[in-house]
Amino acid sequence: MLKIDETLCIGCGICEQQCPFGAIEVVDGIAVVGDSCTLCGACVEECEVGALRIEGGGRAVQQDLASFSGVWVFAEFTRGRLAPVATELLGVGRRLADARGVQLAAVLLGHMTGDSAATLIGHGADLVYRVDNPALELFSDEIYEKIVSELIRQHKPEIVLAGATAIGRSFIPGVATSVDAGLTADCTGLAIREEDGVLLQTRPAFGGNIMATIVCPDTRPQMATVRPKVMKEVPFAADRSGEIIDIMPKPHQLTSRIKVLESVTEARGMVNIQESDILVSGGRGLENEQGFELLGRLAEALGAKVSASRAVVDAGWIPYPHQVGQTGKTVAPKLYIACGISGAIQHVAGMQSSETIVAINRDGDAPIFDVADFGVVGDLYEVIPKLIAAIERRRGS
Ligand SMILES: Cc1cc2nc3c(=O)[nH]c(=O)nc-3n(C[C@H](O)[C@H](O)[C@H](O)COP(=O)(O)OP(=O)(O)OC[C@H]3O[C@@H](n4cnc5c(N)ncnc54)[C@H](O)[C@@H]3O)c2cc1C
Repeated sequence: MLKIDETLCIGCGICEQQCPFGAIEVVDGIAVVGDSCTLCGACVEECEVGALRIEGGGRAVQQDLASFSGVWVFAEFTRGRLAPVATELLGVGRRLADARGVQLAAVLLGHMTGDSAATLIGHGADLVYRVDNPALELFSDEIYEKIVSELIRQHKPEIVLAGATAIGRSFIPGVATSVDAGLTADCTGLAIREEDGVLLQTRPAFGGNIMATIVCPDTRPQMATVRPKVMKEVPFAADRSGEIIDIMPKPHQLTSRIKVLESVTEARGMVNIQESDILVSGGRGLENEQGFELLGRLAEALGAKVSASRAVVDAGWIPYPHQVGQTGKTVAPKLYIACGISGAIQHVAGMQSSETIVAINRDGDAPIFDVADFGVVGDLYEVIPKLIAAIERRRGS
């Protein structure tokens, strides 16, 4: 807990100002700590008279950081195939491992994983820890958590990355707790700090209004999740070589209190905007729901899918699965055409990795033009019909 030494406290109020959680108040010239204290320690560092200290509750973690080495990627394998996020993570993992001068390993769990380990090596892994077992045919939080935690304890990687997918989000926090590590969710940028090799984990914070860079300097491994389509994979190279280590799980690792009776895939409303090479995206500039008919025609002419900003999803003009952005899907198509979208940070966070971005907006100062490769300043109701006509003319000729 946070202790105040009343004999030293001078009631200057610096701690009160510094506390990000409003947990300290100076009462009658002495600092008093409230229930919202999270033991973050910000006040302790700022107190000029040394009147504050954290006792007991703050866990004293002492690790030999130098004994941890290597970058690991959890290679999600589901429904008989590797999830695309696995190879995307190997792309960034390769960069981090090279910057640290260490090995890049993939951890593959599943049943009948076939040539997936070789695929992971082709995409950049030096080493694959493969646990292929009938008990892993269906995902189980408990079993995955036990196996991955044990592997981490045994081999001590310095960095562990996983996809922020339904599976990753479900069991990776448990792994982090089990190995006493921190976890930064939904990172959009990962880099190595040159001076000390610490992992810089960047993600949107405070509702996406700022980008925060988070570090875990005192414990290992440094753990982060990354959403699909945020990172770029290293192209597959069949001549890359690597080692595959088959792991036999211990019987107690394969037991779970949860029994999966059946796994059912929802067929209804399956729009996967993440798989389309071209997206035509509409925002509030469409002015009404009917605007999506025009966008639909443009999408048809281009062989594209229709996506949208949150403003129009919230307005009920198009269903949520079409939403791009921080609280929607992250997409990285070859071509992203933003029509009547202002380019708010929360929207851009979900589409900035697109190969080519085209923006149509009647406001030449709209922030979307900051990320666009090509911009058309104009009324979308004039521009889009001309675009459709031009595409159809080309098709015809
Ligand atoms: C916690 C949080 C999470 C969020 N998550 C998301 C998210 O996942 N995705 C997301 O998109 N947003 C998200 N938002 C909302 C985001 O901040 C913006 O409000 C939203 O993206 C704005 O949508 P828009 O660009 O369609 O609308 P607006 O910002 O209203 O922009 C409309 C644009 O259309 C242009 N325009 C108007 N008429 C025409 C015309 N006839 N022709 C051409 N251009 C025209 C205007 O110049 C304007 O630039 C989030 C916000 C918060 C706080």
